[in-house]
Amino acid sequence: MRKKIVAGNWKMNLDLAGSQNLASEICSLVAKNPLSGLKSAPSVVLFPPSVFINGVSTIVNDTPGVSVGAQNIHQNEKGAFTGEVSAQMVASCGATYTLIGHSERRSYFGEDDKLIAEKIAAAFKSNLVPMYCCGEVLAERQDNKHFDIVKHQVETALFWMEKSQFEKVVIAYEPVWAIGTGVTASPRQAQEMHSWIRQLVATRYGIETANKTTILYGGSCNGQNAVEIFAQPDVDGGLIGGASLKAEEFFTIISSF
Ligand code: PEP
Repeated sequence: MRKKIVAGNWKMNLDLAGSQNLASEICSLVAKNPLSGLKSAPSVVLFPPSVFINGVSTIVNDTPGVSVGAQNIHQNEKGAFTGEVSAQMVASCGATYTLIGHSERRSYFGEDDKLIAEKIAAAFKSNLVPMYCCGEVLAERQDNKHFDIVKHQVETALFWMEKSQFEKVVIAYEPVWAIGTGVTASPRQAQEMHSWIRQLVATRYGIETANKTTILYGGSCNGQNAVEIFAQPDVDGGLIGGASLKAEEFFTIISSF
């Protein structure tokens, strides 16, 4: 069975107390969930701002199935990179995952797939699970280029890896036009792209690996639409932005399988 994940990207929101409160509310809801502890229960990953990773990981440590990740890491291990944080640093604060290639990093900070591949390599060195984000912008979808764009992103950022390494990666398909806009991909659009990504993985690494690869959907997913999206055969959960800042709604999404 493929691992199911619901991840919350808190972006640049909250403060230390707010992050810890949200984490503890989510943990108590998860702990009360009748599915909690079962193999079929989705794993939950919280991505607070880096400065709060340590504070949030001390809260989630007691709740099985809830982990913490970093929203970004630098590609180098250490050195004169003022203001940056390395994979090893976030790992030492309790992170076990890292987002890589989020569309906001690509568009506001100019990250391309070559740099993203370097960040993925850095994540592996510190035993972080990379959650690799890919997805097309609106104009690319309107021009019917979305499959080619995602193919290029996935091949460049991921397909340099050995199979054993690739099997640790989580992919998040996030159409950029759906992120933070309130416009969600339809369940059919999500399924179509997830199935395409799985076929690409099968071509490179074989069907067995493809069937084990967790592929999440992200983009205005919320408590109302998650059930239909998560019901798609190739959708293994979600990467949630805005709706992950409200514990009850985030828990509704976690319970949407
Ligand atoms: C995201 O930032 O990864 C995201 C999916 O945001 P939202 O859910 O707010 O669209």
